Amino acid sequence: MSSRACPVCSYDNVEQIGQDPLDMKVLYKCPRCGPFLLTELVFVKYERKLKSSKLSAWIRAHSEQKKEPPTISTDFLENHLKDLPEHTPKEKMLLFLGVLKKRAEYTGELVEIKCKTDYPLVHASQWQEMACLSQELDRLGYIKNNLASGGNLSCQMLTEGEGHLEKHETQIASLVTFDHHPKSKFLNSQYIDEQFKKCESRIDHGDYEGALTSAKTFLEAILQEISNVHEEKQNKDKSTLPKLFKQTLKNTSLGNIDDHTKVILRGLITTVHGLSELRNKAGDSHPSKITPDKRHAQLAVNTAKTIACFLAE
Ligand SMILES: [Zn+2]
Repeated sequence: MSSRACPVCSYDNVEQIGQDPLDMKVLYKCPRCGPFLLTELVFVKYERKLKSSKLSAWIRAHSEQKKEPPTISTDFLENHLKDLPEHTPKEKMLLFLGVLKKRAEYTGELVEIKCKTDYPLVHASQWQEMACLSQELDRLGYIKNNLASGGNLSCQMLTEGEGHLEKHETQIASLVTFDHHPKSKFLNSQYIDEQFKKCESRIDHGDYEGALTSAKTFLEAILQEISNVHEEKQNKDKSTLPKLFKQTLKNTSLGNIDDHTKVILRGLITTVHGLSELRNKAGDSHPSKITPDKRHAQLAVNTAKTIACFLAE
């Protein structure tokens, strides 16, 4: 066991524990970022890139959600670091309210906040920014901020703050979990348009079964993308669309949409799944089942597009 400054946030004397002698992974236990794994090779090669407040916030989010310590890999630094979101002051204030809510047992309870170690929680770039956010929230009447010294705050959530947080429940869930990636491969309007055109052209060529299959595959790709972080837990081959949707709800911030919307979405997804299963049913020993025709294909494709647009919003 040894110690060195945190390669991400420069916190002094962070405990390092060697994990796997083969690939030389080291577990860092940073009081600010939370625990994470890094190989010596990545440390040396990306020393500058690692110093990122966005990365610090991303690592901290893992420990807050009680996930396994993330491994900071070459692939992550090269391809995904740039996609971590940049938050507006308004979003950071929402995150601050979220921290208060999480730590208080009841509205109005005094909560101690140590800005110097807690600032990654609100995606701030340094502790002073977190202190400023608390002053702004106080000015807006959302919290009462009893400022102590050295970046240690003692805050109380006010009813207005609680109300503001409730109004933005879904938004804060995606901020906290990093689930919403606007630059993601599938969750953008261009991809959705392309896939939709593909389905339409199949319908135009009379390939109704093909259009149904495309619509289903297209939705599967989107749901997979949303729950990408948890992908290893899923069995892609056996997951039917409704099952995949259920898993996605459970694993991601999508689970925080209101119950009515969930019921509607579930219904729509079952529709696409059901229609795409028509082909199997039509082919086996149930001759009385419907063979997909143009109307069915059109219904599946349009429904898939509706769901995709909703999810990508
Ligand atoms: Zn750190």
